[in-house]
Parts: sequence; structure tokens; C-alpha cells
Amino acid sequence: MKINELPTPCYVIDEKKMTENLEILSGVQQRTGARILLAQKAFSCWHIYPLIRNFISGTACSGLYEARLGFEDMGMENHVFSAAYRESEIDEIISYCGHIIFNSFSQLDRYRDRVLAAGKKVGLRINPEFSTQEGHEIYDPCSTKSRLGITRKNFRMDDLDGVSGLHFHTLCEQNSDDLERTLDAVEEKFGDILEKMEWINFGGGHHITRADYDIPRLERCIRRMQEKYGLEVFLEPGEAVALNAGYLVTEVLDITENDMPIAILDTSAACHMPDVLEMPYRPPLLDSGEAGEKAYTYRLGSQTCLAGDSIGEYSFDKPLKIGDRLVFGDMAIYSMVKNNTFNGMPLPSIILLQKDGSFRTLREFGYEDFKCRL
Ligand SMILES: *Cc1c(COP(=O)(O)O)cnc(C)c1O
Repeated sequence: MKINELPTPCYVIDEKKMTENLEILSGVQQRTGARILLAQKAFSCWHIYPLIRNFISGTACSGLYEARLGFEDMGMENHVFSAAYRESEIDEIISYCGHIIFNSFSQLDRYRDRVLAAGKKVGLRINPEFSTQEGHEIYDPCSTKSRLGITRKNFRMDDLDGVSGLHFHTLCEQNSDDLERTLDAVEEKFGDILEKMEWINFGGGHHITRADYDIPRLERCIRRMQEKYGLEVFLEPGEAVALNAGYLVTEVLDITENDMPIAILDTSAACHMPDVLEMPYRPPLLDSGEAGEKAYTYRLGSQTCLAGDSIGEYSFDKPLKIGDRLVFGDMAIYSMVKNNTFNGMPLPSIILLQKDGSFRTLREFGYEDFKCRL
């Protein structure tokens, strides 16, 4: 199979690039003794777990389904955080996970004894109330009135029986200087509690595999918690595991014109790359430039009837033709896990680009996948 023979639309997971990311994460683990978990929220394509498990320590989960997937398909260290757990699910969740992290003292009081009776670890998510993100309130758990994490004001020093760790998650696509400043805030607000704990989880949002990421600074942050408080350190990056390790291949179905040339693709931002509209951001597209940079500029739009379902304006050296393939980059994270069949759009196939350059189809979808959810 060649790229021109792949069924479109399809996600392609790049095994070589994924392995390079995992080697970087594994290096951090080896040099520091910290344990790195895949946040499945960003990437749950379990077909790749046999590769991932060779490099990192396990999985981080947001609830029952991810907990089960991590338990069954990764089978390593498995941590879970949810803003609230359901009575009907907590026992099954405890059976899958070694660390259960609570978002309130009310949840802690409700379920603590069951977690401890099962021999599992209990943690609390804290909110250090220290924002390092600007303009992205939807991704900032430290924004005002946030429901995520317990603030110092609401922390109960007299209710910590059986609690062995603290968890924070406040970053999104950030470098280790922001982590360092966040740790200052964590120590300032919760330093007295850290002294009583066995472990700390730095959450996700660490862009460790990005070229400009300062890894030595991250490792200093890890050692600081290990040496000063004797803590075991966990990190649960999602994006960093599969950063730039996937593509979305699409075909040009038609070319139209309205004040500028418009190409209609067999993919959809709303269905197949929702972060393009939610973040929002402009996905990289192979062999293209900004609008006006190369000779031929097009607006790239989808098949759906949502007026705003457009991916942006891109330019090319040659005019686009019906049947051309376009390859969007950085499409392994938050794409497959978020896709949907709005407008009856088909789900993209999932294909692995293996290290030897050959393609292997992992999953194909059809009409039943649209119908069975409704
Ligand atoms: C989203 C999330 C992560 C992963 O974040 P990335 O930005 O993908 O690294 C980890 N932990 C928690 C609690 C999260 O909510």
C-alpha cells in the first residue's frame, strides 16, 4: 500500500515518530526514577499499547472506560482521576486501578475505606490556584471558580487518614519553566502536606517531546520533589506521547470558487479534527504554506453542511486537482478519541505506518458505526 492507495479519510499513526517520543520519555524515567503514564484521554488507540508499554510505566484514566482499557490492554500501573465517581462504578474502577485520585473531601470520605480495603492508594487533586496559561480558559483548571482540584482554603488538614499522595494538573502544551513556577506555588500552598505524603503526580500538559522543551529543567523539578520531600513522582502526559506522530489523509472531492478558490475535502474539522474548531488552531499540512505564501491559495472545507466546518486557508506550489491527497500533521492526539459521525460522516480508518515504511490497517468503520450509536 502506498499513501495514494490508502482509503480516505484515514488517520495514520507513525510508529517511528511514536517510538522517538517514547525514547525521550523513557530517558526521563531512567535518569530520574519518575514514572510516566500515558493519559489515555489524548490517545487511546490500544493497538499501539504493546509498543508503548516497552518505554513507559502505565496509563492515566479519566473514568471507568479508560480505567478498564488501561487495565486490560496496557496492564501496568493504572491511575484514575475523575471530578466525581459514581456509586455504581467505583468498585469496578478500584479493581482496575492502583491509585484513585479524588477531587473533593466529600468524595474522599465516601469512598476512602473501599479503596484502602482493596489495598489501593488514595490521592487528592489540589488546585494551586496558579495560572500559567493565557487566553485559553477552557484549558485552565486554575481559572476562577474552577471545579478541578481542592484549593488550600477548602483543604481539611484533619481529614487526611489514608491519603498518600497529591495530584495537580494545571498545564497545557507547556514547557518546564511553567512547571517550575507551578511547583513553587504548590510548595507555597501545600508544602506542609507534601511532607506527609508518599507520592506526587504532576498531571499532564508537559510538552516533553517538543523540540524546544527543556528536559534538564523538568528533571530538576522531579529531583526537587524527590529530594526535598522524599516523594515518588508521577507524570501523566497525553500529547507528549503521540506528539506529531500521526496524520490525517484526505482527498480533494471538488474545487469551487467564492471570492477565492475553495477545495472540498472528504474530511471534516468538526468530525475528524474537532480541536481545530475548539482550541482553535491551524493544523500543519504537508507541502503547503500560509495563505498567499505559495502561488495557489485555497480555503479548505469539509463535506458537511456546517458553515464553519473549514480547516483554514493554505497555499500550494501547484493548483489542486480533484483526487489529490492532502496530509494533515499532528493528528494522533485528541483526534481519534474525539471524532464523531455528525452529518453522517464516516469515521476515518486507522492505519499504522510501520517502521519499515509499510502500512497496516488497524481499523475500518462503516455505516453500522454511525447507526449503532443512535
Ligand atoms: C488532560 C489531562 C492529562 C493529559 O494532558 P496532555 O495535555 O494531553 O498532556 C493528564 N492528566 C489529567 C488529569 C488531565 O486532565
